[in-house]
Amino acid sequence: MNITGAATNKVQHGEFPSVSKSFIESEIIPELQQWSLCNGLVLTSNDGNGNVAKVAPTTVFPTPIPRKAFEQAKLLQKSFNQLYAQISNSEWLVEELEQLAAVDPEFTGKLFKLFKEYTLKSKQTTKFGIFRSDYLVDRKSQSIKQVEFNTVSVSFPGLSSKVGELHSFLNAMGKYDNKGDPFYQAGELHVSESIVFVVRGIASAMNLYQVDTSNKVREQDDKIVLFVVEENESNLYDQKLIEYNLLKIYGINSVRCPFKDIKTHFEYSTENKRLIHKTTNREVGVVYYRTGYDLADYIDTSAWETRGFLEESYAIKAPDLSIQLAGAKKIQQSLTRESIISKYVDDSIVKKQLMETFVKIYPLDDSSEGLKGQKLVMETPENYVLKPQREGGGHNVYKKDIPEFLNKLPKEQWKAYILMEIIDTASRKENYIVRDGKLSSEPIISELGIYGTIVFDKNHISKNDYSGSLLRSKLMTSNEGGVVAGYGCIDSMYLF
Ligand code: ADP
Ligand code: MG
Repeated sequence: MNITGAATNKVQHGEFPSVSKSFIESEIIPELQQWSLCNGLVLTSNDGNGNVAKVAPTTVFPTPIPRKAFEQAKLLQKSFNQLYAQISNSEWLVEELEQLAAVDPEFTGKLFKLFKEYTLKSKQTTKFGIFRSDYLVDRKSQSIKQVEFNTVSVSFPGLSSKVGELHSFLNAMGKYDNKGDPFYQAGELHVSESIVFVVRGIASAMNLYQVDTSNKVREQDDKIVLFVVEENESNLYDQKLIEYNLLKIYGINSVRCPFKDIKTHFEYSTENKRLIHKTTNREVGVVYYRTGYDLADYIDTSAWETRGFLEESYAIKAPDLSIQLAGAKKIQQSLTRESIISKYVDDSIVKKQLMETFVKIYPLDDSSEGLKGQKLVMETPENYVLKPQREGGGHNVYKKDIPEFLNKLPKEQWKAYILMEIIDTASRKENYIVRDGKLSSEPIISELGIYGTIVFDKNHISKNDYSGSLLRSKLMTSNEGGVVAGYGCIDSMYLF
């Protein structure tokens, strides 16, 4: 330490601490594991009794991200929130979905059917989006390029904050330095605010929900949040952190329930189909989905029916199907066309800023763009990733695998996919990943996510916020970055 107490160890741009692998194993990993277990940076580990947790996979060091890139992503979030909110209210979305439903009847088609049958009938006019826009930093320009815009069940708002705290703790403890001094200076390590900002978003939607107090059965505060969840969710604690903070900060109670048990525990009131929790007789103000984005989440017809039951209810849905479907990959592709995005973004500067984050995305239909995409992918497949209308990881086809995959598929089904240019991002060599107590040190690629929350109706936005950040890192050798699925890990940012 120097006389001001600041670390003397100046960090060069983009540098990692230079501690040895054996030091990491003997000095850092035990501290990292104990801190994670003690502070809830954990996933479930099933002993059958809910009595065991395991340390979530994380990096050992925070990963360097250009401060400018983060600031740019943060700045754009409210505009992206607003854009997707407007799309969810648009006729254009319905027209696009009509076509998409025809080429993907199994999933988009079924969701769209529920949207027409139930969502449109709900008497609730307030809509609520909890979004996350994901980016990679482009190697050449060092600016952000959008991977995808998520409008349903965005994960890690809880654990993201925790991993930032973990890295700050290890730094303050002197574990990133052989002499025991802090390696990073104040303000260089970013701790995501998502754990409180996403909760704040949910609280503002809850605040707008008006309980039916007319017959004096309930008072204005008699409302809860319903978390619709998967059974045996390995990312349980990320969700519990949201639940605990809702209660601690805002006095809002939550109930967790999988699709299959919803109708046992919840019923409609006679007036406006308010959703009543039978046990407590409280109204559900917000339905918060942490499932329902993947075909596998709808295990039988009753799961689909239950989604419709929730959609038609008076509760505010996070998200309803119009918002969820606005996040379809096909919509993301269409928005890269200036003629489309211009319909929703008036401000030419904002439009330019948003468009600068887009890489080329082709449809694979009979349009001239579509034909161009078809030609390019056969000639230079290594430049592309092929994406179906699915969420949640494990569905994309990468690079050299694309031509063979497409050739096996009847041509009329190609329309259900989009073809996206691979974002050329710099890999980081010097970081380490700890997963299940084991250290690996291959080059990693990091994906930056920015959370956003927006509460709105047809004509008015009542709240629109940046809601924190997430950094996920994966081994460069893996195409996908799913943390829970075992491809990647949670990380935090050293901003330079
Ligand atoms: P999902 O909805 O399954 O999360 P994504 O579009 O986020 O699908 O793709 C999954 C992963 O594939 C991303 O997290 C990223 O690691 C990689 N990926 C997707 N698109 C690109 C791209 N254009 N360039 C490079 N990597 C990509
Ligand atoms: Mg993704």
